[in-house]
Amino acid sequence: MSRRTPSRPQSRGKAAGSRTRRRPSALIPALVLTALGGAATGLLLSLSRQAEAPVSRPPVPAAATAASGTEARRPAPKRQAPRTAAPAATRTSASSPSRAPAGPAPSAARTQASRKTAEAAPGGRVALTFDAGASAAPAQDILKTLRERSVRCTFFLTGRFARDNPDIVRSIVADGHEPGNHTFSHPDLRRLEDDGIREELRRAEETISAICGRSTRPWFRPPFGARDGRVLKVAREEGYECVYWTLDSWDSFRKGITAREIRERVLGRVKAGDVVLFHIGSRATADALPDILDGLAEKGLECVPVSQLGSPVPH
Ligand SMILES: [Zn+2]
Repeated sequence: MSRRTPSRPQSRGKAAGSRTRRRPSALIPALVLTALGGAATGLLLSLSRQAEAPVSRPPVPAAATAASGTEARRPAPKRQAPRTAAPAATRTSASSPSRAPAGPAPSAARTQASRKTAEAAPGGRVALTFDAGASAAPAQDILKTLRERSVRCTFFLTGRFARDNPDIVRSIVADGHEPGNHTFSHPDLRRLEDDGIREELRRAEETISAICGRSTRPWFRPPFGARDGRVLKVAREEGYECVYWTLDSWDSFRKGITAREIRERVLGRVKAGDVVLFHIGSRATADALPDILDGLAEKGLECVPVSQLGSPVPH
């Protein structure tokens, strides 16, 4: 149903245009229907906007809150140069997907969309990131969608998730995605001593790399986005650079969010250089992803892992 709702004025214009070529006797009812359809769509859009209105930023813990929402979109004061020093293995495996050609045959429309993405990115690049930690159920569908479009992303894994879902972790790496460190047990790192932070990062790294043969360095995302200067410093000493986000899909933050709402939220806000936050435990994200990838391709945005974003990552 949601796919039929015209999301852009263009689609409505096209539909109205084709109706005006009908016989005159059919014209009046057709125009009435068109007007009603437009009004209904407008109502739906305004309802969904109202529903979003009261909540303007995600409920991340205090330190993270300061950098969420619009502030996170601004360049950080201590921004480093665009990262190009990612491990060679990262770039190699991400740019030469061994499993992509063997995937299921994509539909014509999807082939076109992924070709567009591969050929040129006139609109720039975005990094889609997926945090893992809770439910693993929708993960296979998410991976399948990404595989069909030959899209590479960054997955922030907890050590616990990896231990409990080794096959998913191996698929992530085999498909050319980039694994990142999301700690072992998903604590608020600000509440741990320095040694506790190190322990969380090291246990996760040991577990994940033992399963998939790839290091999670240099990327790390703090659970809940909760970090402060000390957490970032300890993480840096452990070889990690924090990756926050500039656009939250709300797939974890807002209970009951639908695939359509996620799609409209992401496609309505996304811009070049964004780091978009998703969760692989979200059924709604798994359902929204094909349309989101189509929409990004239409905007000329290329999806890349964090290491290939080419612009500074938000800390
Ligand atoms: Zn998490």
